[in-house]
Amino acid sequence: MLWKSPHPDLDISTNLTTWEWAFESSEHSQVLGQPKENLGSYIDAVTKERLDHADVKLKATQLSAALVQEYGLNPEDTVSLFSTNTIWYPVAMWAVIRAGGRVNGASPAYNAEEMSYALKTASTKFLMTLPNSLDVAVEACKAVGIPKRHIFLLEGQHKDFRSIQDLMEVGKWCTPNPPHRIPAGKTNKEVCGFLNFSSGTTGLPKAVMLSHHNIMAQCHQLRQLQVVPPGDRYTILAVMPLFHITGLVRFCNYPVFMNGDCVMLPSFKMESMLDAIVEYKIPELILVPPILIRIVRDPVVEKYMPDLCRIVKRWSSGSAPIAPEIIELLRKKFPHTGFRQGYGATESTACIACHPPSHFDYKYATSGGILCANTVAKVLSLEDPLKELGPGQTGEICAKGPQIAMGYLDNPTSTAETFDEDGFFHTGDVGNIDSEGLFHIEDRIKEMIKVKGQQVAPAELEDLLLGHELVEDCAVLGIQDAYAGERPKSYVVLKSGVQPSKEVAARLLKFVKEKKVRYKWIVEIEFTDAVPKSPTGKLLRRILKARDREE
Ligand code: AMP
Repeated sequence: MLWKSPHPDLDISTNLTTWEWAFESSEHSQVLGQPKENLGSYIDAVTKERLDHADVKLKATQLSAALVQEYGLNPEDTVSLFSTNTIWYPVAMWAVIRAGGRVNGASPAYNAEEMSYALKTASTKFLMTLPNSLDVAVEACKAVGIPKRHIFLLEGQHKDFRSIQDLMEVGKWCTPNPPHRIPAGKTNKEVCGFLNFSSGTTGLPKAVMLSHHNIMAQCHQLRQLQVVPPGDRYTILAVMPLFHITGLVRFCNYPVFMNGDCVMLPSFKMESMLDAIVEYKIPELILVPPILIRIVRDPVVEKYMPDLCRIVKRWSSGSAPIAPEIIELLRKKFPHTGFRQGYGATESTACIACHPPSHFDYKYATSGGILCANTVAKVLSLEDPLKELGPGQTGEICAKGPQIAMGYLDNPTSTAETFDEDGFFHTGDVGNIDSEGLFHIEDRIKEMIKVKGQQVAPAELEDLLLGHELVEDCAVLGIQDAYAGERPKSYVVLKSGVQPSKEVAARLLKFVKEKKVRYKWIVEIEFTDAVPKSPTGKLLRRILKARDREE
């Protein structure tokens, strides 16, 4: 059975870049012509610095000119943004997009090894970062041959590196280069503007190619489900990181399309988040389950309760499953609020499904929402992938729509495995769609582990452990964790002659801690004689998962 979105179809441009749509199309240039007090802005929650969208257009134009004319940035060149949340991140993003480049977001928590893998995978030519990430950035760039002069600071000063503010000064004196246009004979569905990492169904992280059309489509789809009371300005708080797909769409792109304010939280601290909610009167919070858990459990929330009850209209959760108990605690604590989920992936530019205003009620909260506009879905049997299932029947969820990515950069094999010839994205998620069209996500057949909403690729940890002198073979999988959702656990086969012991386990755990960013740390090691493999040598993770659940 094929499910169709119940929402009216949306008309999405096929010939504009996101820059043209945001800053030059008749729809938005009219907005930018208004008095400054009517314009939405990116705002720093801590310093209160504010850049309205007319400032952003001007500064991005100057930066774009400097990057093209002084540094030779070419269309299709990748610029990696390696940074925590800052108002300068979207300015840099728009500058690169204006020049026809590709913007790649990378986690600022990466160490040099992880970052050099990221730079290679995204084919990066330039990198922008913050002063406290410079050491890692320099080491990673050196490892992949990116010249030092291609590293810029998004903010702050350093004697050896230019900041993008310096480049904007340079750009002031350049004749602005014409904004990049979609080449003749192509549509904006074929032009990649954004590269975000995802490990997809299997293997190591890959760079997901998102087109200009993908981003615009998702913004249109979200706008259709938005409620902004007349006279109010759309205002959102960027708690989640900008390098993740939700951050890219919701906090970098969407606020411009909404002429809204986006308040950037540079780093997550419970009290700074709560202060910002109160100060900027944020009506809807886009969060991940671990933060919602803290909202219902952390005693610090109590002193904010009167303000939160007055201001917050709705909680929104995504990126990972949320436990029904947490939803119930949230409902009890904030009975006047609504709740919604977004379900999707990097490969679907965020949402495949989402709750529309008619479903902001807690009674729908455990579901992942209903299909976004212009999107269709099918559920394939796990036993017989050619068989399409009906309402309430559980299988792999597949979706097709204008937000489905172009594929993985330089990786035709994974692209063909994940995006079929009919244009369906095979999500690797197991669930069902009920007779009301509500999505219910139950499990994952893809390898990906989700720790606090962030992806961990088992293959990455397996590759690391296999390099350890004591390890003969291993398999990593996710185990349930009440706070983080999941955490990585490894089954390990030791080299012959090595005896399993607590000390050996501790050595292996320490080895991972030294090499990987914190959220990827393995929390448990179980020694085993063999890891189950198919006759072709493929790891049978599902068998291990089942064994683990039984235990
Ligand atoms: P990412 O590409 O990092 O956004 O991860 C995508 C994956 O996160 C999906 O394929 C799901 O496994 C999981 N996910 C995203 N949203 C939800 C949700 N609302 N409920 C359950 N799992 C989700």
